[in-house]
Amino acid sequence: MKEGFPIASSIPKQPRRNHVKRTARKLLLSSGVSSLPIDIDNIYKTNGILCFSEEEAVLATSLPLPTSFVSDDNISAITQYEIIKGQKIYITIYKTHNRNIGHIRFTKAHELGHIFLRHFEDFDIPSTFNIQNNHDYWVLEREAEMFAAELLAPTAILRACGCLDRENIQSLCNLSEEAAEYVISDIHRDYHLMESDKASLEQQFYDFIKNKEYLLFISKYACEVCGNPIVSDDSYCRICGNNLKSPKKVSGNPNIYKSTIALKPTGRVYYCQKCGNFQIPAGLRECNICNAPLYNICKICNTKMSSESRYCPNCGDKLPFYSAGLLPDWKTPSLSDKIPDNINGFRRIKEWEFILDKLLVQEKYALHHCLKDSLAFEYSGKIAIYITNNVSAELINTSDVLKEVNTITLPYFDITYDEIDIKKV
Ligand SMILES: [Zn+2]
Ligand SMILES: [Zn+2]
Ligand SMILES: [Zn+2]
Ligand SMILES: [Zn+2]
Repeated sequence: MKEGFPIASSIPKQPRRNHVKRTARKLLLSSGVSSLPIDIDNIYKTNGILCFSEEEAVLATSLPLPTSFVSDDNISAITQYEIIKGQKIYITIYKTHNRNIGHIRFTKAHELGHIFLRHFEDFDIPSTFNIQNNHDYWVLEREAEMFAAELLAPTAILRACGCLDRENIQSLCNLSEEAAEYVISDIHRDYHLMESDKASLEQQFYDFIKNKEYLLFISKYACEVCGNPIVSDDSYCRICGNNLKSPKKVSGNPNIYKSTIALKPTGRVYYCQKCGNFQIPAGLRECNICNAPLYNICKICNTKMSSESRYCPNCGDKLPFYSAGLLPDWKTPSLSDKIPDNINGFRRIKEWEFILDKLLVQEKYALHHCLKDSLAFEYSGKIAIYITNNVSAELINTSDVLKEVNTITLPYFDITYDEIDIKKV
């Protein structure tokens, strides 16, 4: 197996943590993955790596399985390579007997770790080994485990979704209990890393995080009235106010209600959502010009709620954003429900929300206020923005919008637009 390759270097004394994590994230980026749970089989497929269960391997290939692999139940998988027409082809074979799907997924990701960390090329190792029998290789085994954890449960994404407990990680990442425990112990060591590609990963998972798609995986059931996924021990539905105290646990169709109101980490809006005022003195709970609420805090429980919540999940009271008309009734269809994804050949820009978010971060509040409920479409260098009725199109300076949009799309998406059209819905 080793013939023809350069002399291998010696195995590192300690796992190369940063290198391992970065390699896993690079693979996620290059594979175009944008949601959890990670489709591990697709990563094998897109990278041209063969993957068979032990049974499939026996039936479908002529590969002789090493007896050490077949007879030792502690070994969950092996990876070998063959040179076919001068090209190195990796083949992973995994066991399914007595192993649940979460375990198998972790095993597959572990084997990808050996491949993408170049263990076979860079080090002098046999193709089958495991940590219990081969103490010499524990560093490489540990690296493969770290890799698997980052690949299936990327720390940056779990943090952004606020999913850091075992039960949520298990369901969100489709892992076994054991693998989820491993991920948790790993996450806590991940705070001080240099993570330059962490941001790109968050961008790739933007919809998943921002639109709270992850709720569909970690919720116990959905509200029978509005379909809002219920995650914790809420007494009332945050969206429709339905009393959940004796919920029928038969879920309706889950439906995610997202919010266009961004909040700072303190829970305060970036600018007044009613009048657009952004020069608000500190310490106020309401806008000094129009009295609109700046926080979505329940008046009875005095608890800060997420910006899409219409009702307090503890006491069922109407929350300030909803009472003040900053949030529509849950039955009101959103702009994206009313407008198709394709209009006269113009394609919906799926990164639009990301672009709006960047405007906010760059403190372009007035522009953000005009565009916050908008959708955008593109067609060869042209951009068409659809805004809602309550914004007056005359107030929007189209060349300003074009300039600001381009300052974001150029560095992030490598695109610029040269014509702009603003339409009312
Ligand atoms: Zn291994
Ligand atoms: Zn509901
Ligand atoms: Zn105001
Ligand atoms: Zn309350």
